[in-house]
Amino acid sequence: PKWIESGLLRKWKLHCDKSHQRRGQRCHISPAARYPPPVKPEYLVDTWLGYITLAQTLAPADVDYVTLSYVWGPVQPYTTLKKNLHMLQTPGSLANPLVLSKLANTVKDAIALSALPKERYLWIDTFCIVQDDDNMRHRQINHMSSIFANSHLTIVAEDGDNANYGLRGLQGVSKPREFKQDLHRLTSQVKLLARSGSYDQPSVWSKRGWTFQEELFSPRKLRFYNQVARWECPHSFWSEYNWQSVSQGGTISSAIPGTDEPESIEVFSVPFASLSGYLKLLGRYNDRDLSYQKDSLFAFAGITTALSRVFPGGFISGIPQMFFDIALLWQPIGDAKRRTPNRTSGSKSLLPSWSWAGWQCKVDYRSCDPAFSYFKSSKFGEEAI
Ligand SMILES: [Zn+2]
Repeated sequence: PKWIESGLLRKWKLHCDKSHQRRGQRCHISPAARYPPPVKPEYLVDTWLGYITLAQTLAPADVDYVTLSYVWGPVQPYTTLKKNLHMLQTPGSLANPLVLSKLANTVKDAIALSALPKERYLWIDTFCIVQDDDNMRHRQINHMSSIFANSHLTIVAEDGDNANYGLRGLQGVSKPREFKQDLHRLTSQVKLLARSGSYDQPSVWSKRGWTFQEELFSPRKLRFYNQVARWECPHSFWSEYNWQSVSQGGTISSAIPGTDEPESIEVFSVPFASLSGYLKLLGRYNDRDLSYQKDSLFAFAGITTALSRVFPGGFISGIPQMFFDIALLWQPIGDAKRRTPNRTSGSKSLLPSWSWAGWQCKVDYRSCDPAFSYFKSSKFGEEAI
């Protein structure tokens, strides 16, 4: 079908809201949401009145909001800047034809979709961070994990390789889907209908650096992937063809490759600093692509902010201060490519070569184990213990 069944997305959300309450916990308040500091976004898009509003002026203070996770690709984004901030804070400004014509399709569709599940408020990076306000950018980038962890729902635009692709298949909102089916005739009576495309094909979205922490911390996700809509929450993963609860024996990661393994967030739940847990996260992050290589620490900053709670001293260029000497022994798996500033980024500063952040590579999470063994067996280790 070209269109997603009308009302289905709303049905999923209502079902999750109502049925997934265990011991007073709801899916949108998942374990992941407990670890980052409880910082909320500064600005939100009011999708009903079509403008950008200061979150702190909204009542009640704990307003629910949806987040959007997507990739820009080569599309030049229309962004909030100091000079248009005032204009964008006027109700109706996002419906202004001049502004509307500049919005990327994915952004436009997400604004319309957020109004549909009656969530009203939406957080989109390019709108809700004033891009030329360096202080604000810095604050929000450091708390990216909090912004996604505290969101009510994350819309994940995984199809397409740029922000103009849109959220396809929403009748009355977006373009129809490119839904392809192949009919195989097995015998004269038996025919096999197969969906073309497969999960084996990783999306551009899943290979981007910025989307890593967005996926990791979002408690509930509405994914648009492979031309099919999916719902993922701590209790269930549903697609248009399959309603399955985690409690029915499945796991999200077994159903959809590439989604979070439970061990990825283990590092946030233990009350001590786990270097191997941290390296496991890096193992999944550090070979991802970034448009601007200088962003390798920024796109991971939400994670280091959340972990500073259990890593005293925080992180120096991504290396935990408390294990500084041991962590310097990190090793890549396979080739490592130096992350050097892009010519167009205007930045000349190099990321340090002693940190993983200076290289695009897979990180071996066991690379520091020999150092720990040596430390434990040495006289110094005995004294310290
Ligand atoms: Zn749920």
